[in-house]
Amino acid sequence: MSEVNENIRRIRERVAAAAARAGRDPAGVRLMAVTKTVSDERIREAIGAGIEIIGENYVQEAKRKIELMGKSVEWHLIGHLQTNKAKVAVRLFDMIHSVNRLSLAEEINRRAAAAGTVCKILVEVNLGGEESKSGAAPDEAPGLIRTIAAWMPNLAIQGLMTMAPWYDDPEKARPCFAGLRALRDRILAENIPNVSMGELSMGMTDDFEVAVEEGATLVRIGRAIFGERHA
Ligand SMILES: *Cc1c(COP(=O)(O)O)cnc(C)c1O
Repeated sequence: MSEVNENIRRIRERVAAAAARAGRDPAGVRLMAVTKTVSDERIREAIGAGIEIIGENYVQEAKRKIELMGKSVEWHLIGHLQTNKAKVAVRLFDMIHSVNRLSLAEEINRRAAAAGTVCKILVEVNLGGEESKSGAAPDEAPGLIRTIAAWMPNLAIQGLMTMAPWYDDPEKARPCFAGLRALRDRILAENIPNVSMGELSMGMTDDFEVAVEEGATLVRIGRAIFGERHA
């Protein structure tokens, strides 16, 4: 068995164990392979090992890979999106996880309307409070979501995404993940028309087990599958 294959098998076991600790059905957690800087060959190995969702950070890099490998899997954009790349992004990606501001939502909506599609999005929230992370502030997210739901018919909100700060101990990320879940529950309680809160995209190589314990439905894993990035 290849190394990528074996890594994916181990991660699935760890996800299942974390889900069991929290009394969750492991089928409620999907595994995304994050492939920034990863070679085409290793991405194909991951797909061969049963990965059904690929996450990319950069539109140009993803465009080349998607054109080469096709849409037998879902491609999600997880990296920061510049407004001027929204047009390309709506045509390429099955979901955009990094919607963090009104101006970007408006542009994606406009481009999706022009393309005759509805774009699935997550609203990215910055719960760690780090300046370097690009999500909306937690107290701004509900307003952003209400505005999108009311005025942007070519966006379909599917849930929330966050990136925890890096900590030496993954337990320290727990309040961040619990905070995203609490925010999801607050938004759900508002019963906003046209808003689904089915997805909580949270958890990476160093902290995904804690994220699963706190309710992640989509974990985004790069290094634990492919090894350290070198590019
Ligand atoms: C790179 C990246 C990941 C994967 O990180 P690893 O630590 O390699 O698992 C997940 N989410 C986002 C937004 C990323 O940029």
